[in-house]
Amino acid sequence: MVTTKDRIIELRQQDPLIQAVRMSELLGISREAIRLSLVKLDMPTNFWKLPTHCLDCGKLLPHNNHSVKRCRSCWSKAHRTSLACDECGVSYDLTLSVAKIRLKSNRHHYCGNRCLGKWLGRTYGFKTKEEAAMKTGGRK
Ligand SMILES: [Zn+2]
Ligand SMILES: [Zn+2]
Repeated sequence: MVTTKDRIIELRQQDPLIQAVRMSELLGISREAIRLSLVKLDMPTNFWKLPTHCLDCGKLLPHNNHSVKRCRSCWSKAHRTSLACDECGVSYDLTLSVAKIRLKSNRHHYCGNRCLGKWLGRTYGFKTKEEAAMKTGGRK
């Protein structure tokens, strides 16, 4: 005779992520009964809480949020890129979405306000504090 346990094990083998709710529907027994059988079988009762591994490096993720599929460092690698600053040439990190917008807009891009300020100063004639100080100091 096929017992509930056997059927649970079978369902679990067919679909390792099957939830207790679904099992109770399939087997026509209460969720509580399923849960108790699972406990007896030493199987996790929360199937959606199976450990998640990072898609890129395979590291076990510290959370069970299945919508997050990468660890923090791989996530930032996947979602970040670097652009070289037009002013100082130093590459800086930014998120991919921001990088796309910047490249698409075909505007200059800078590592920060300091370089942006320098460019603005050259282009529109107003000076950054440092440049202003330098000019004043060097005047004959
Ligand atoms: Zn990773
Ligand atoms: Zn720069």
